[in-house]
Amino acid sequence: MTTTGATDSAGQRATRTVHIVPHTHWDREWYQSFQTFRLRLVDLLDQLIPQMERDPAYARFLLDGQLAVVDDYLAVRPEAEEPLRRLVGSGRVSIGPWYTLPDEFLVSGETLVRNLQRGLRVADRFGGAMSVGYLPDMFGHVAQMPQILVGFGFEHAVVWRGVPAAIDRSGFWWRAPDGSTIRAEYLPQGYGNGSALPDDAKAFVAALDGFGRQWGDLLVGPLLWMNGTDHQMPQPWLGRVVAEANALQDRLDLHIVSLPEHLAAVTTEGLPTWNGELRAGARANLLMGVASNRVDVRQAAAGAERAVERLAEPLAALFLPAERWPAALLGEAWRDLILNSAHDSVCACSIDEVCDAVLYRYAEATDIADGLADRALAHLAARVRPARAAVGAGHLSGPLVVNPTARPRGGVVRLTLPIADAPPGTQLLRSRPAESVVLEGAPEQVVPAAEELEWARTITGFSLESAGGEELVSARREGTGSLVSPDTRVALAGLAHPGPLRLRVRQPAQVTVLAYVNEVAGFGWRGWAAGDAAAGVEAVAVADGEGGDRGPTLANGIVTVTVDAADGSYALGDHAGLGRLVDGGDCGDTYNWCPPARDILVDRPDSVDVTVVERGPLRARVRVAARYHWPARAEGLEARTGEVAHEVVTQLELRARDRALRVETTIDNRSRDHRLRAHFPLPTPAGGSRAETAFGVVERGLEAEGGPTEAPLPTYPALRFVQAGGLTVVHDGVAEYELVDIQRGRAHELALTLLRCTGMLSQVPMPTRPLPAGPLIRMEGPQLQKRLTRRYAVAIGDVDPFALADEMLVPLQVVQPADGPNGPDPARAVRTVADTDLPGAGSALTVQGAVVSAVTREGGGLTVRVFNPRDEPAEVSIDRRHGWLVDLRGRPLGPFEGSFTLRPWGIATAALAD
Ligand SMILES: [Zn+2]
Repeated sequence: MTTTGATDSAGQRATRTVHIVPHTHWDREWYQSFQTFRLRLVDLLDQLIPQMERDPAYARFLLDGQLAVVDDYLAVRPEAEEPLRRLVGSGRVSIGPWYTLPDEFLVSGETLVRNLQRGLRVADRFGGAMSVGYLPDMFGHVAQMPQILVGFGFEHAVVWRGVPAAIDRSGFWWRAPDGSTIRAEYLPQGYGNGSALPDDAKAFVAALDGFGRQWGDLLVGPLLWMNGTDHQMPQPWLGRVVAEANALQDRLDLHIVSLPEHLAAVTTEGLPTWNGELRAGARANLLMGVASNRVDVRQAAAGAERAVERLAEPLAALFLPAERWPAALLGEAWRDLILNSAHDSVCACSIDEVCDAVLYRYAEATDIADGLADRALAHLAARVRPARAAVGAGHLSGPLVVNPTARPRGGVVRLTLPIADAPPGTQLLRSRPAESVVLEGAPEQVVPAAEELEWARTITGFSLESAGGEELVSARREGTGSLVSPDTRVALAGLAHPGPLRLRVRQPAQVTVLAYVNEVAGFGWRGWAAGDAAAGVEAVAVADGEGGDRGPTLANGIVTVTVDAADGSYALGDHAGLGRLVDGGDCGDTYNWCPPARDILVDRPDSVDVTVVERGPLRARVRVAARYHWPARAEGLEARTGEVAHEVVTQLELRARDRALRVETTIDNRSRDHRLRAHFPLPTPAGGSRAETAFGVVERGLEAEGGPTEAPLPTYPALRFVQAGGLTVVHDGVAEYELVDIQRGRAHELALTLLRCTGMLSQVPMPTRPLPAGPLIRMEGPQLQKRLTRRYAVAIGDVDPFALADEMLVPLQVVQPADGPNGPDPARAVRTVADTDLPGAGSALTVQGAVVSAVTREGGGLTVRVFNPRDEPAEVSIDRRHGWLVDLRGRPLGPFEGSFTLRPWGIATAALAD
């Protein structure tokens, strides 16, 4: 029997059940590298497996809820697979369900799902994963996590950080915005409350009593003693000391159990309910400053996730034959993303060596994805009939514009065309003439250069001329043949001209232009042809500044942007002061921001230069160079000292028909210990914000909940966008924002963190967080002493932030049929009508009614995952096709015909029938 009180109704002293869950928490890489921690993991499992095999009293072990540790171990101890399989099969060792324990705010919703799918798949080899949403150390929890866990068939979550003071029980109902509810077991003292296991029964019982007294009525049901902590080795006396403790007294009834066994015995009666995300620092540090510590890692993460989720997967699924679905290569890219999603990896609260490894994995995933996307696009282009009035000669077809997103859209694209003059309506960026002199000089310079032209594959001929214009040697390339033939080499070697020479080359003329492409269907394509250009598209116009503070104005008929030449900010319409940069000190660490006691805020540049770089008709660009003097560094926790001159270059870009201004700010950062934010006055004062989070949007107020060990900083992460008071900011990479300038309960500005630079992995006690959050290691990487570019877009008024995020971050793709990897590739450019079976414009898939999260192939068939980011039900149609709705494990839920209804905030996965 389980009781929570000290006595029962008969006045007898009651027995309290204690559940001991032996475990370790394995940060795969953190204050040491992966390989260094792996050596310790090998030590641990080398000890644990034989210990459990010979000592039945060491009855259970929880392998931290993640399968990566199993793969990492078996990679160097393959012979241990069988013994491990036996221990898992008998229920003594619990593995999974995650592949790694991810951070929930700094990765996409899709990455969270794939992480669990991968963990479950690997666990199948061992007889299955622990059926518990184990979230022991994540730095807060996203609102949709209950829906994700329920989607995998789990009934229990286990959480620590982020739980607010309002939760006054060690169990609560946790509800996602769609209503999915899961029972959460709350670890009030974390996953290491029982890490100390004295080899002395009396001391052990005293420790259990102490834990019970400390948390009192908060603890409901069996007392949970999590016997393990970060990288802790198993304590071999566990079985014996538990038996001795049971023999010593009868108030506590101790059992060594698995986490599922504990959860089967917990109470479900009288529990409080919590709706949505968990981001309070009430009883444990949330460590909210990880959202802004290494913006280079945030950008790499977002870029890699986009390359895989938004380009490689949908393009390969829709445009390659089913049998060419690149499952293994995508699996490698996903492995990189999932390894990086581990909380200490993507949170960049790790040593520089670990951040380097994280960046490298993101680069690898991106390269794989980019290559797969290119191949899928080339395959599509080879099947599309050339657009009418194709540019160039004869059978050479024009570029193909592909929309990789579900929303139909037009827009400005960059094209390279094999013609001499820009077609009407386009905007010329660059031109390459058919013939030009590329070098003049002494023979010993010019002759070797001519020989090297062999390798310039676009060059079809050259001639060497005397200064007077007399042709001395000439050569032509036939087709893909050689340019500098042996005869030509002999002629070049024998050239006895004493004077200066001129090298003239011939190559196909080429222009690079911007063109407006009219509506391309969702997941569709449209061949571009000269003559399509920009009918009815209002040009972007630039009016030069009038001197003084008023800089140039850009207008496209929808948005008018005016640059303030005095402070470098800009106005959208008559809403001025946007993008003002404010630099302040940060003597915190990778986990938390902390201003110096006496800070210097720099919020005005010393001087500003504004230059118009492009004047339309399709794209206008203005370069704003603002010069500042920022303090050089912080001295302890007190103040900032020194001074470093900086030039911050911001490019403002307005395109035809765009509703948002695109902004790119480049900083060659030479200051340390500081935070740079862009401020945006709100069109209307706001009581809260809406930010993108995994599978939806979260609404937040102006305050955060702190606790005794962490100040309540209302700095929040947003996946791709944040909205407040009529302002929308879309950003590349998870960004930290804060609503500031609060008067009478309303915020008047939004601040977006562009850089946050600190020098310690974890700092000594500091005002915003009195206790360290990790080892005190001095590091260079988080100071970000390098050139960084932050990209974002700003819009005012009523905009669909998902559409704006797609427009800015997942651009229309252009397939240039004539471009192979080494220049023109006639084999790809020339094709006959017989090869082409697709019309000049079309769509491979139409999805309406919800936001598309993934398009993949499973078992040959197309699978589409969508979510509904609204408060009302959505009717979702997928090409009017039929198929099955499946859960996140792929198990069928029910058939659908043509369309299905998706509950508010719901996630749905549709497996389409062929
Ligand atoms: Zn951890």
